Parts: sequence; structure tokens; C-alpha cells
Amino acid sequence: MEERTKKIREIAKRLLSEGRVDVVLGYRAGTVPLKNAPYFARTPEEAENFIWDSHGRINLANFLPQRQDRVAVVAKGCDARNIVNHIVENQIKRDQVYIIGVPCQGMIDPGLVYEREGRLIEEAIEADGRLIVKGQGFETTMERTEVLRQNCRSCAYRNPPLYDELVTDPVPEQEGLDPYEDIKEFLTRPNSERFDYFEKLIEPCIRCYACRDACPLCYCAVCFVDEHMPQWLGKSIDPRDKMTFHILRAFHCAGRCTDCGACEAACPMNIKVRQFTRRLEMDVKELYGYEAGLSPDIQPPLTVYRPDDPQDFIK
Ligand code: SF4
Ligand code: SF4
Ligand code: SF4
Repeated sequence: MEERTKKIREIAKRLLSEGRVDVVLGYRAGTVPLKNAPYFARTPEEAENFIWDSHGRINLANFLPQRQDRVAVVAKGCDARNIVNHIVENQIKRDQVYIIGVPCQGMIDPGLVYEREGRLIEEAIEADGRLIVKGQGFETTMERTEVLRQNCRSCAYRNPPLYDELVTDPVPEQEGLDPYEDIKEFLTRPNSERFDYFEKLIEPCIRCYACRDACPLCYCAVCFVDEHMPQWLGKSIDPRDKMTFHILRAFHCAGRCTDCGACEAACPMNIKVRQFTRRLEMDVKELYGYEAGLSPDIQPPLTVYRPDDPQDFIK
């Protein structure tokens, strides 16, 4: 059994049997290979169902806003950053959440695996840094690193920045990466070309809102897209309505997004929605030197007023 699975179960059982928390959030095996499901354990026995591998793409911080119980949550680097966001935004109290930090080596993109394999996969196992997939009459081995999700390849915070307990020693962080290289190149293109790119990108969008629902930042009681009075935008898949949804959602995530990739992983149409949020992430980093979710003691730049702001728009 994966060492981290064993440790997560041990910690969860201990917290539940000592009555330290009411519930532990983690992952259990999904009903199909390569996709784990979130799991809520309320008894030490239920904690036996937890697993850890490279298929936990869902960001568990999404289940925390406005909870009233005491909760422990299994958190990789990006999840922990979103928990920090929730603490900063008063969605959960620090002393109400116990963070079981998991140093992370990246999650696998099932889309990439299926692209390579092109046939029904019935089983997936990991061993020695490799992924072995099996189906009717075949077995293929691939390097884990070749099928990692795009955001995990450029992730600079694989270790949780905030935790109560770590399940293993920290993993080495990926140094010297420029996660915005492609965005910088994109920005050299003319405006019209950029607009055409985004129009084409979201053409297949069916406005199912899976991207929004999977995102820990989207916890508004009523989202602007669901408002009827006033109705901010149409309910159709008209290209302008779609564009408005994506641009407004991206702006709502500005200075808060951790690039966890949960939005993209949830999209049934395989749309690279992080193209919107990463541009704003880059701007916030360049303009304010801020990256979301690294410390509960730092307020995000878009929520604070500083009299020495270098720009004069507010004066
Ligand atoms: S973004 Fe980073 S912390 Fe999150 S799953 Fe990928 S590698 Fe792990
Ligand atoms: S999940 Fe995909 S299809 Fe659904 S609203 Fe988001 S971008 Fe559109
Ligand atoms: S916008 Fe996407 S990448 Fe950013 S925090 Fe939300 S789910 Fe994660």
C-alpha cells in the first residue's frame, strides 16, 4: 500500500477516535480508473476507505466554506493554498480546520492517458514512478511524468504552505520554471488575434458551470450567472454571453487563484479555462508581488487600500 495512504488513514482514525474533528475529507477510489472521488469519513472505520495516489484532481478545499463542524482535510500544496484563501476570506476559522498536508508529486491527466491509449482502460496502477494501465487484452506502462497535468508541471508549491501535520517529508520544489512563458508569448500577438483565440477556445462551452462548481473560489450564495433580478447576462450559449461568463469569472478569481486546475479537470468539453485565470495571476504577481494562499497573515492586494499605492487612480 502507498505509504501516504497508510499515514492518511492512521491520522484520520486518530483524529476521529480522539474526537478532535467531526469529519475527515479525503479521497476514495473512483468508480472509474484514473479518477478518485472525494470522501467524507465520520468514523474511524470509514477512514479505511481513504487512498492517496496520482488521481486526486478534485480540490477538497471546495467543501469547506461556511462549515459549522470541526473538519480535517487532506491537502496537497494547491488545496492548502485554497484553505489559506478561505481562512483569509473568513470562510472557515483556522482553529476549526485540521490540515493533513500531503507533499505532492503532481496529479495525472486522464485525458492525456486516454489520448495515448485510445481504448477503454479498466484498471490503472502506479509503481516506481510509472503508470500501468490495463484493459481487454492489453497492458501499457508509461512514465508518470509524461502524463502529468499541465498545471502540475509548472507548480512551484507542491508542499502545503500551511498544515497541522505532514504525512511525509517535504518533496523538492520545482525550481527555475517560468509558468507564464506561453502567456508572455501570447501577449506579443495583436489584440484581434488574441480575441479570436479566446472566442475559439470557448466555442464548445455548454455553460454547464462544472468549472465554477469545482473551484474553491466560487462560493457565492448566488453566482452572478444565476441571478434573475437583476439579470446580469443571458442564459444562452450565445458567444457574447459565454465570453462574459468566462471573463467575469476570471476577474472574480484575480489575486485568489492557486492554479490548482480543478476547473479545467471538471470541464466535460476539455476547455483550457486556466488560460483566462493564469493571465490575471501573472499580472497580480508582477504588479503586487503576490501569490495567493501562501500565508493567512497577508491580505490579498485587491482587498487592501494602501495610501502609498504607486498608481494615482484612487487619489
Ligand atoms: S498543482 Fe501542485 S500541489 Fe496541486 S496537484 Fe499539481 S503538483 Fe500537486
Ligand atoms: S465546465 Fe467547460 S463547458 Fe462547462 S461552463 Fe465551464 S468551460 Fe463551459
Ligand atoms: S480558477 Fe481554477 S485553477 Fe484557479 S483556484 Fe479555481 S479551480 Fe483552481
